[in-house]
Amino acid sequence: GWDTGRVRLITQSSKLAGVRYDVRGPILQEAERLERSGHEILRLNIGNPAVFGFDAPPELVEAVHAALPRAQGYSDSRGIAPAREAVAEHYTRIGVPGIGPDDVLIGNGVSELISLVLQALISPGDEILIPSPDYPLWTAQATLAGGHAVHYPCDEQNGWMPDLDAIERLVTERTKGIVLINPNNPTGAVYSAELVRGFAALAERHGLVLMADEIYDHILYDGAQHEHAALHARETLCLTFSGLSKIQRVAGYRAGWVVASGGRERAGDFLEGLTLLANMRMCANVPAQHAIPVALSSASDWSGIAELCAPGGRFRDQRDVAHRLLTEIPGVTCELPGGAMYLFPRLDPDRYDIHDDQHFVIELMRATRVMITNGRGFNLPTPDHVRFVTLPSAEVLTEAIGRIAEYLDTVRID
Ligand code: PLP
Repeated sequence: GWDTGRVRLITQSSKLAGVRYDVRGPILQEAERLERSGHEILRLNIGNPAVFGFDAPPELVEAVHAALPRAQGYSDSRGIAPAREAVAEHYTRIGVPGIGPDDVLIGNGVSELISLVLQALISPGDEILIPSPDYPLWTAQATLAGGHAVHYPCDEQNGWMPDLDAIERLVTERTKGIVLINPNNPTGAVYSAELVRGFAALAERHGLVLMADEIYDHILYDGAQHEHAALHARETLCLTFSGLSKIQRVAGYRAGWVVASGGRERAGDFLEGLTLLANMRMCANVPAQHAIPVALSSASDWSGIAELCAPGGRFRDQRDVAHRLLTEIPGVTCELPGGAMYLFPRLDPDRYDIHDDQHFVIELMRATRVMITNGRGFNLPTPDHVRFVTLPSAEVLTEAIGRIAEYLDTVRID
């Protein structure tokens, strides 16, 4: 019955033990507190292009607008047929064999699909190989699903590339899948075709599900080439995740997809579970799904994103400005990213006194009004990195980095 005699605290689920998502964690609460007391905070914690003046292609916005009257009902749980067909045709054009609309699931962004896939895949104690540093949703969702995120290191000395032999040594009886994020968030590393082929071969050797988060696949600089993991999966199941949030700058629409390719015949049971979970949440937001066929039609030339990433384009120029200014600060080093929209600089621990990097970014924000994310929030073991979003204009970046440089001086080891 109802125990009215004493006050019972409402506690969070034990499932949340160990689940962390620092890009919107305690730092955001502090930012909101500062904003409520009248301070303007420059939010560089999250890759949200629209708020920095990047507009989506107008035809995409128009498609959603025009679809509103006929998008009032639920859709098929897997997504509207034109969106699934467009995704299947897109990957077929890229060269992924045997893809049809039934291999596509549309979700409320890649975020929801990461959740559905890991919930459908992981039994308690199963292990998933995830990069360190990572986009932390992968680790958070694997943990929430009852699994163990086993982190494989990416080597900063080697352009943040992972070492396949080292990854292979982490494979156990319980390993169920391997995640690659390419281009990478937070490091901006773009993997060579040979490395991607190596990931697929490793997954194949051990019967692992290959999960490729390719949400930045068209955000590439200086001639970097992106290699789709799905091109190399034959025997093993490959799940490719992408969407419109970054490339088409409509993160707020919540439109993403996952495509199953490779060895689907062995994965029938898992795919049935995934369908069950997709059914249980009805469907993705229907109006936004109508943007997908427009974004992926063969007529769309991707010129908008290509221009942003070319010399003179805002993405590319801002990356360069931020990289130059940050690396001019004594003791700050940073790999130049080949893709995505972030910098992941290292703050020399012999020069800067930072032990608790979360405390550091909160104090830095109080002093500078600039919100960045601590490296350990990306499951990096050491407290000597921060992640910096390069979306603001060069002018704003210059001001922000100037303030950060001044603040760093206050934590300098003399
Ligand atoms: N995957 C990576 C690597 C990301 O960086 C992000 C967003 O920052 C996501 C997935 C989530 O994107 P979506 O807006 O599609 O949920």
